[in-house]
Amino acid sequence: MSDRISDIRRLFPILDQRVNGRPLVYLDHAATAQKPTPVVEAVRRYYEWDNANVHRSGHTLGQRATDAYETVRAQVARFVGAGSERDIVFTRGVTSAINLVATGYARAKLGAGDDIVVSAMEHHGNLLPWQQAAKATGATLSYIPLQPDGTFTLEDAEETITSRTKLVAVSHVSNVLGVANPVRELAAIARRVGAVVFVDGAQAVSHMPVDVRELDCDFYAFSGHKMYGPTGIGVLYGRREQLERIEPVEYGGQMIDRVGLRDSTWREAPWTFEAGTPNVAGAVGLGAAIDFLERIGRDAVAEHDRKLTRYATERLKEIDGLTIYGPEVDRWGLVTFNLARIHPHDVSSVLDVYGVAIRAGHHCCSPLMDHFGTSATARASFGLYNTEEDVDRLVEALLHTKRVFGE
Ligand code: PMP
Repeated sequence: MSDRISDIRRLFPILDQRVNGRPLVYLDHAATAQKPTPVVEAVRRYYEWDNANVHRSGHTLGQRATDAYETVRAQVARFVGAGSERDIVFTRGVTSAINLVATGYARAKLGAGDDIVVSAMEHHGNLLPWQQAAKATGATLSYIPLQPDGTFTLEDAEETITSRTKLVAVSHVSNVLGVANPVRELAAIARRVGAVVFVDGAQAVSHMPVDVRELDCDFYAFSGHKMYGPTGIGVLYGRREQLERIEPVEYGGQMIDRVGLRDSTWREAPWTFEAGTPNVAGAVGLGAAIDFLERIGRDAVAEHDRKLTRYATERLKEIDGLTIYGPEVDRWGLVTFNLARIHPHDVSSVLDVYGVAIRAGHHCCSPLMDHFGTSATARASFGLYNTEEDVDRLVEALLHTKRVFGE
């Protein structure tokens, strides 16, 4: 695989630039991935040749746009192992997918006496919609307690999930710890009490092969922009019988069956959740991103990820005064850390001077930061375009940062 990385890197012209006079090292993949040329080209080609509205215009361009959009739906279904393209709803991203289920299912169906279970490691996107749904319905929100290293055990999950639990929402891979949660086992526990399982796959799909039926979850969401696709497009996979239980959240064109002056009826899922003109170009770009990942091979993608993240973990451990957050297990695509006595925002500012882009802050995981007793951390995250040399540049820049601060 490593011999292919230089070819892969050539597909990312954005990386071939100097930032603050140094070659750019982009280590913020977990915030958003860079886009390879085939994705950019697919979007451009769509706008230059096929652009039209979908599901309405009978002319040739309208047909082509509709075909392109619906072809990607089928491609996404194959990509995540869904049974049918009709189990795939296009959304703006993970956040809007979660809000769709939190509003159309949790708010519409839950009430006092019901319980929603999450973990305290969740991204705000997989927390606030459930928090608001619980407030609106009188349902409770319970947390699977965290271990000191930020993870949770299945025993604790089993204690937290009770006969009152109606929905369990967890991330597949934590965007702070980089750790994969035992989603399949959680789904089995939830199933025993008849609860629905929602998986936030934002940090998983660009790193590891995902099969939603093997995970046996009810919902699985991910964003195009974190898997080398465009922003503004994402996916909600839903098990058919669960999708059918969700109320539409947005009403308008495209999602209707029959409209009267006083009453109307809706199309079936997934179209009932796609009111208005959708992001057709985004879907086309997402399709190109899937092609890109599949051409490389998803096992090869995972292998590169593991190897590089392991290398980064080992190299970072060599730095005195650097604390890595999370357990001592293989991580997926990122390492979160702090340097003693230097604020992570200062770390990232000095790194930027060295052309090294990382993220510092709470990573939209305030409860997890509270758990660690810190307000912020630094995070280096990796994509297919990153190499061991990039990690070496990060380590060099961190050592320099320590010297700048007299550490
Ligand atoms: N969940 C996790 C674990 C994430 O990392 C992110 C993105 N940082 C989100 C949800 C939200 O994704 P988006 O902003 O694409 O909706």
